[in-house]
Amino acid sequence: MISAMDLADMGHQVEMFELRPFVGGKMDLHVYFGCYYNLFEIMKRTGGFDKNLRVKEHGENWVPSTSVPSSVEDKFHNAVRLRTSPIVRDLVDFDGAIDMVREFDDITFTEWFTQLGGKRGSFDRMWDAIAYALGFLDCDYIGARAMLTICMLFAIRKEASVLRMLDGSPQTGLHNPIIKYLEDCDAKIKLSAPGRELVHDIDRKTDLPTRVRGIKIGPGEVYHEFDTVICALDVPGIKKVHV
Ligand SMILES: Cc1cc2nc3c(=O)[nH]c(=O)nc-3n(C[C@H](O)[C@H](O)[C@H](O)COP(=O)(O)OP(=O)(O)OC[C@H]3O[C@@H](n4cnc5c(N)ncnc54)[C@H](O)[C@@H]3O)c2cc1C
Repeated sequence: MISAMDLADMGHQVEMFELRPFVGGKMDLHVYFGCYYNLFEIMKRTGGFDKNLRVKEHGENWVPSTSVPSSVEDKFHNAVRLRTSPIVRDLVDFDGAIDMVREFDDITFTEWFTQLGGKRGSFDRMWDAIAYALGFLDCDYIGARAMLTICMLFAIRKEASVLRMLDGSPQTGLHNPIIKYLEDCDAKIKLSAPGRELVHDIDRKTDLPTRVRGIKIGPGEVYHEFDTVICALDVPGIKKVHV
């Protein structure tokens, strides 16, 4: 939907095809943290930021504490892990810390935390509770990058932990303003219109796909030709599109 907004802003004629009878995909949240900077920029573009969001009163900055885990051993390991973490670098060098965190894409938070000997008690007493409060999976499953990024943002940016709530449902507060924005730009939105096949040229020498020409839509596989096709699908969705 945001690609459609950007393309429409650039003056392109846009058509959007959505598998389901409604737009929005998985964005059905109604509670947003203050560090959802991109989402807020989108809401400012559609005019929904001031109109559709309520701010929850906010008092203190949030920083993970080394004192919660109960045993002395857990406190020690928690302190070692936190002091060697990107969260400390974050206090003086945010960009450097974010670069560090990108390295942790392939490991869970538990794997990262236990690298320096951290023990189960820290998860039971503190980290799983933090993960649940953020709406994440528990630490054995949530990626280290996701968990550390949010801790870093909360630690240095006061506005990051400010909560905003949609006044109304995601459909009325978030999606409808985007639909209106797109319709005002003459973009066409087709619902219950699944993309079935990407039509493209083939390089004769390598037998590999080259330029995408268009897309076949719906059970009738009606062909639509475009200069540019963007497939912003979820992974199970894109796996069903024939290439
Ligand atoms: C419970 C939950 C909580 C989350 N919390 C957060 C959060 O706090 N912060 C955060 O940043 N992110 C959060 N996310 C993740 C966020 O919702 C996703 O990253 C985001 O929605 C991905 O957007 P997308 O457009 O890439 O994919 P999607 O939202 O999955 O949209 C893909 C769209 O493609 C459509 N589609 C699929 N196949 C086809 C086809 N063949 N033809 C046409 N259309 C098709 C689908 O119907 C869907 O509308 C959360 C996700 C969930 C499920």
